[in-house]
Amino acid sequence: MKKYALVTGGSRGIGRAISLRLARMGMPVLINYQSNKAAAQEVLEMIESAGGEACLMPFDVSVEAEVSEAVDRWEAAHPDDYISCLVNNAGIRRDNLMFMMPEKDWHDVIDVTLNGFYYVTRKLLPKMMQRRHGGRIVNITSLSGLKGMPGQTNYSAAKAALIGATKALAQETATRGVTVNAVAPGFIESDMTKDLPQDELKKLVPMNRFGRPEEVADLVAFLCSDSAGYITGEVININGGLYS
Ligand code: NAP
Repeated sequence: MKKYALVTGGSRGIGRAISLRLARMGMPVLINYQSNKAAAQEVLEMIESAGGEACLMPFDVSVEAEVSEAVDRWEAAHPDDYISCLVNNAGIRRDNLMFMMPEKDWHDVIDVTLNGFYYVTRKLLPKMMQRRHGGRIVNITSLSGLKGMPGQTNYSAAKAALIGATKALAQETATRGVTVNAVAPGFIESDMTKDLPQDELKKLVPMNRFGRPEEVADLVAFLCSDSAGYITGEVININGGLYS
């Protein structure tokens, strides 16, 4: 039996760094992405050339049928293996002041972050709970979900909901040895933040810089490791001292 990690949005940014880091830890990694196959393929090649194991698993986390079908297909091809580690990382931003926010932008952000978490996690949970082999779920939330950020009511709402879900689910799965934690990054360098005025914003950060995806990945890797078996229901900030 082989234990796999699934990283949603593993093709770029933070998810890409997490995929690479978990592979370096010795886990075979399923790299999920929505549309950017070239980026996902690059992650796959980086893992394989470093001697690790990975494969691509494209689906839109916000479409239940796609999630279900992709996981069913993988399980049919891997009857002896299971996904013991899930990192719910896929996310999008559609920023706007609330009074101008189109309904679609509200729903799209909730659909990817919150409903995506629900579809993927619910699909994998039964096997994780049955196997009692130290399942791990890490949800990538945000400083926005804790503090609230103007211009991000949709994103802040989705990320705050993910924190509530993390705390509730952690209590449901604890007796089966499945831990559920959240990681809340501040400003991290990635495609998601490349249009932000970094020079201005970094002045707000006590460490005077944006974080790197690899720094988030190190924290996620620890939460996915055996060493973190007694940590559950936590929200861990990683924000250079910006907020706690
Ligand atoms: P990013 O560079 O924009 O990458 C987003 C990733 O999510 C891509 O791999 C993308 O896949 C995938 N994705 C988007 N929608 C998807 C969907 N419907 N189904 C499947 N995959 C989907 O973002 P990032 O900065 O790495 O952010 C990663 C996570 O960290 C997000 O949840 C974000 O909210 C959170 N976060 C980021 C920051 C920050 O400062 N960067 C701060 C706090 C929290 P494709 O390549 O196929 O498009």
